[in-house]
Amino acid sequence: MYKKANGQTIYPYGPESPKPAILIKNGRVLDPENAIDDVLFVAIKEGKIVSFSTEEPEEFTPDTVIDAAGKWVTPGLVDLHVHLREPGREDKETIISGTQAAAAGGFTAIACMPNTNPVLDEESKIRYVIQRSEYCSCHIYPVGSITKGLEGKVLSPFGEMVKAGAKAVSDDGRSVYNANTMRNALNYAKSFDIPVMCHCEDPDLANNGHMNESVVSTRLGVRGIPSISEEVFVARDIMLAEYTGARVHICHVSTAGAVQLIRWAKKRGAKVTCETCPHYFVFTDEDLETYDTHKKMNPPLRTPGDREAIIAGLADGTIDIIVSDHAPHCAEEKEVEFDEAAFGVIGLETMLGVSITHLVKKDHLSPLDLVKKMSVEPNKIFGLNGGSLSVDSTADVTIIDPDATWTVDPSLFYSKSRNSAFEGLSLQGYAATTILNGKVVFDRTGE
Ligand SMILES: [Zn+2]
Repeated sequence: MYKKANGQTIYPYGPESPKPAILIKNGRVLDPENAIDDVLFVAIKEGKIVSFSTEEPEEFTPDTVIDAAGKWVTPGLVDLHVHLREPGREDKETIISGTQAAAAGGFTAIACMPNTNPVLDEESKIRYVIQRSEYCSCHIYPVGSITKGLEGKVLSPFGEMVKAGAKAVSDDGRSVYNANTMRNALNYAKSFDIPVMCHCEDPDLANNGHMNESVVSTRLGVRGIPSISEEVFVARDIMLAEYTGARVHICHVSTAGAVQLIRWAKKRGAKVTCETCPHYFVFTDEDLETYDTHKKMNPPLRTPGDREAIIAGLADGTIDIIVSDHAPHCAEEKEVEFDEAAFGVIGLETMLGVSITHLVKKDHLSPLDLVKKMSVEPNKIFGLNGGSLSVDSTADVTIIDPDATWTVDPSLFYSKSRNSAFEGLSLQGYAATTILNGKVVFDRTGE
């Protein structure tokens, strides 16, 4: 057990862990796939959902009863954009600590990006992550690289990576600069029906900037990254998606122009999905007046107008999913001059609370919409079976207290890193219990 001072507990998990019969009662079950938003009993046995019903199920003897009064019971949450840092930078995060952070954040599955050292660019590296995940607190779906070593030149062996368990490819951290290489990657990915996750950034236009290019960057004297550097590559990659018929997933959308382009591409029938991150619907570049390096990420925080467009894109369905882009860094890389600081913030343990506080409580999304963006759609994009509480499905379940008020204290995180943009913020809502394969792996009430 890994217990924290505030009552959070992670329980050990393994393939041979006993899977008790669990009855969840009095909870508000939110299951968009089955059009359910109702107070129901959910029964779990041997790792599967065995029933959900308005009456207490007969002939079901639970080993554990969870009273979820006032709470939401949802299919397990999924975060498709996480940097686990293992192999290579285990001082920042490991597969173990990152998946514990995920479980504490309510996630039963995450996708891990390939920009580790070494890069996840061949079968053996994908297999390494899968093998390490067996005893972890959530499922891990590795993303293989598009090009060997993320160098943008030679395509990685997609077929053998997919066979080993990769669910998508990405050179996240940088874009694939050469359009013909990208075209070839899309055709190659299409033959395996996997999405290509695009980090959209024209490095020439980004010009080694450190924050959004605007009047604020001019006033602060920091070199800017213009929104057009993102939009040029979003436009290119959705055009290539339409041209090749391949599936493109645009990572961490941060600008109004990118939202507009993706809305247009979807109308045209291009196979395009996209994601945004909590920091883009909460903060703007005006929050950088204090040169807070914990708000330095790539893409950078944009303008208030961009933030409005991100929220509108979430509300109208242009933006399919919310991801954390969890990017752990040690203190030495953040406690330096703004220009010297590393890009990236952690987010696994705050994403749910931030999304409830800033989207659901402000009526931009209904609770069902939030479950779609944090469970149903991520499952669909990766072609997974999760995302519903249907009878016989794997019992990956998140129980959420939507009204719990808490203050973000990174010292209580399971993540090894502390670079949170949300430190000190007051939030509403968190995961109360996380159930993986029918076993409680995290709760907040453990003695
Ligand atoms: Zn990226």
